[in-house]
Amino acid sequence: MMKKPALLFLSLVAMAAICSVGWAQRAEYPITVITPGKGPYTFPPGYQTPWDKIEIMVTAKMSPNLFVLHGSEGLDPAHPEASGGRAMVLFGPDGVLMVDTENRQVAEKTLKAIRSFTDAPIKVLVNTHIHGDHTGANAFFAKQGALIYSQENLRNEMLRPPRRASGQPAPAPDMAAVPVGIYNYNPAAPGQPAITFEMNGETVDFIPMMPSHTAGDTIVRFRKANVIYIEDFYRNFGYPFADQANGGSIRGMLDAVDLFEKVAGPNTTLIPGHGTLVKKNDLLAYRAMLVDILAKVTTLRNQGKTLKEVLAANLTAPYDKTTQGDTQQSKDRFITEVYDEVKDFPPVVDGKRTMPAHP
Ligand SMILES: [Zn+2]
Repeated sequence: MMKKPALLFLSLVAMAAICSVGWAQRAEYPITVITPGKGPYTFPPGYQTPWDKIEIMVTAKMSPNLFVLHGSEGLDPAHPEASGGRAMVLFGPDGVLMVDTENRQVAEKTLKAIRSFTDAPIKVLVNTHIHGDHTGANAFFAKQGALIYSQENLRNEMLRPPRRASGQPAPAPDMAAVPVGIYNYNPAAPGQPAITFEMNGETVDFIPMMPSHTAGDTIVRFRKANVIYIEDFYRNFGYPFADQANGGSIRGMLDAVDLFEKVAGPNTTLIPGHGTLVKKNDLLAYRAMLVDILAKVTTLRNQGKTLKEVLAANLTAPYDKTTQGDTQQSKDRFITEVYDEVKDFPPVVDGKRTMPAHP
């Protein structure tokens, strides 16, 4: 009777040995630790995000010293699939380089997550765009020692926030949060890095983008890991969002997708701010949808249809099945942006556009 458990024990030891050898051989990046949730999510009226419940976790490892951070699912109605906007952390003897910061309310938790794998000083922070889920903890990380980099348009958006459709005045900017390392998008050389960092054995390119999600977008390429953080001009949770008041453009998103022919290889892992990780071929269906909706809205607007009538036409219907997070609010926001863009689209001035108000 003693034989069986002993054999079982031995075979478990053997299996564990095989698994660990297999793991060593398979230590292939990227490693997804936690995938974003799929929903659908519902929040009662008046729901407030319980920031104290949100955790910031390592959700993917792109190389031994390049990690991705993201928040809990199902708690933040702005980003139910995973709270906040992804942040990236390159670490090692040269210090920490961060891409975006997560929300202000979870700054301490974001730092704690970083301190779970590195004690290196925080040195460089690049902002991919101005939204609070990407820049909210800027001042906090500047106090930790980070020099903040971004496009000049982002700095301008932060210094002089656009008037929002709600008419609410924007609060005065916190100067500690404002980027100090400034560069511009050069329309004559799309895809050209504005700044390149050699840090921790990695080569990191800050590549300024054409006005797309906002007028101050930057994508961040890690050459050795073969990874690009592509921020929010592309998304696969909810419909496209061009923040036109901050200079964004739906047509600019087409140019942004096309740029990937040049800046990414077929196997480059692309990391959007939200949703799942993709390759550049995955951007094509998104591009086709943008082209289709632009054409349909142009036709309707040229026929003199009002925004209300265009919204009622439910143009996104063919895409609802394949679009996660396809809430009515997400659809209406997208169609309204396209409607505003196809005629009398205001130009970018200091990173902003004066968009029409819709009652
Ligand atoms: Zn955003």
